[in-house]
Amino acid sequence: MLIVGGGLVGLTAALVLRHHGLAVTLVERRTATSPQPKARRFHVRSMEVFRELGLAATVHDAARDLADHDRMAVGRTLAEAERLPLRQPAGVDAPEVSPELPCLIAQDVLEPVLRAAARDVGADVRFGTALTGFEQDTDAVVADLGGRSVRAAYVVAADGAHSGVRRRLGIGRSGRGPVGGPSVNVYFRADLADVVRGREFNLCQIEHPDAPGAIASVDGRLRWMFMTGGERTDRDWPTVLRTALGVPAPDLEVLSVLPWQAEMLVADRYSAGRVHLAGDAAHVMPPFAAMGANTGISDAHELGWRLAAVLRGAAAPALLDGYAAERRPAAWFAADQSARRTLDLRGRTTPDPALAHPFVLVAGGFQYTDGTLCRPDGHDPEPVDRFAPAGRVGTRVPHRWLDAARSRSTLDLGGPGWALLVAGDPRPWAATGAVPVHRLDADFLPTGTALLLRPDDIVAWRGTDVTAPGRVLQELLHPARDASVPNSTVDSTG
Ligand SMILES: Cc1cc2nc3c(=O)[nH]c(=O)nc-3n(C[C@H](O)[C@H](O)[C@H](O)COP(=O)(O)OP(=O)(O)OC[C@H]3O[C@@H](n4cnc5c(N)ncnc54)[C@H](O)[C@@H]3O)c2cc1C
Repeated sequence: MLIVGGGLVGLTAALVLRHHGLAVTLVERRTATSPQPKARRFHVRSMEVFRELGLAATVHDAARDLADHDRMAVGRTLAEAERLPLRQPAGVDAPEVSPELPCLIAQDVLEPVLRAAARDVGADVRFGTALTGFEQDTDAVVADLGGRSVRAAYVVAADGAHSGVRRRLGIGRSGRGPVGGPSVNVYFRADLADVVRGREFNLCQIEHPDAPGAIASVDGRLRWMFMTGGERTDRDWPTVLRTALGVPAPDLEVLSVLPWQAEMLVADRYSAGRVHLAGDAAHVMPPFAAMGANTGISDAHELGWRLAAVLRGAAAPALLDGYAAERRPAAWFAADQSARRTLDLRGRTTPDPALAHPFVLVAGGFQYTDGTLCRPDGHDPEPVDRFAPAGRVGTRVPHRWLDAARSRSTLDLGGPGWALLVAGDPRPWAATGAVPVHRLDADFLPTGTALLLRPDDIVAWRGTDVTAPGRVLQELLHPARDASVPNSTVDSTG
């Protein structure tokens, strides 16, 4: 397996593939991880992926600088800003959302943690190595790494928004395109510990007429990001920043000034032959729902078990078609929802009636309707205007604790393998021998009902027929390839 790109998504893909026991080489053209903080909010669904990889505690530990920074703040300047009360969204029909808490950690802190973890589990991680070209045939991809050839059964292209792999494959993108106006991100350093003490925040909206924008905490003490509208990058940034801060900040140092335009674009195809796009290579979205990196982590999580099943010979190559069938609509949903949100923390804009419940976004509540699923009883739609997980086919299994110590969750039962969750006597189900059977007496599962859980915690089948799971599993792993799916097309590029 070859992964192109050592950003957040490529590194997660390496960890997931190693978790499934595959040999992995990752190439990253930069010599170091991202110097920009970029994404900072990792939702519970991403933390569940890190939990499965045995990394959740390590990530929370690395995130300790921002542990108390979950509040939003608003003010004319940072010095005058007040924190807004924490708002719990209404409309949650679930006792608890996840076994994991969300995590606020800057991407430039998280990536080194993932890079070290990927190396620790045996991935061949090569920074300072670029993919310069590739060709593929029906058996393999031959990748050119700056003059050296590497042969791989499959390639995961996690090479970012400007993905060279996607362009070489001639895959276009669709969507709204630019969302809102251009903006500038000013990354700066200043010791503001005394200014923010007792008013720690995630994001602070600045309403000063000469410096409107928002300040994001990167480490909550020395590193900050100021985001403001406009195209000009040549302003007197130290003066603008001091106006926004409302304090002299004598040690202020501007680290970088980057023009930026929020966009909503999703790749028209996720796969071409043996090459599969993941992360920003497949989708870009505005940051207002903090879904970009989180959607990419879910891509890696899902692609990993499919590649492992195919490479081990447990599944037909057509299993990989389900990746695009599921993840493309999921990315479109996340990107569209992100584009419908704004940064106004005072909530002065009229909410879009099509907004999904926030927990539907953060807990992977999007329901797959097409892909590696078996729905003999038809489609039971999951609502999006409230968070009401019920173990429907195509959704992430609802979280319930399995023990009094609250150490094991239903989400710990899937991955890296499949599992069967049975309400009531599990013995008749165990006879099929297809997958490990777990008894689960939960409110959402009537006695005598079972859920077939995929390695990515998605319910693939639900029913009462004890003879079904073994047959269903084989059918799901060996789908007939749809001739209309262009995935089987082999592109050859240099
Ligand atoms: C200002 C800002 C704020 C954001 N906030 C959030 C947030 O709060 N929450 C969230 O979820 N997301 C957020 N995002 C989005 C998030 O940063 C991206 O979704 C995430 O970085 C995507 O990760 P990736 O690994 O797919 O791509 P990238 O991080 O872009 O990594 C791609 C990597 O591929 C490498 N590469 C490219 N071509 C080659 C090649 N030929 N050979 C080898 N390597 C190659 C690049 O050097 C790069 O390191 C934000 C983004 C920005 C810009």
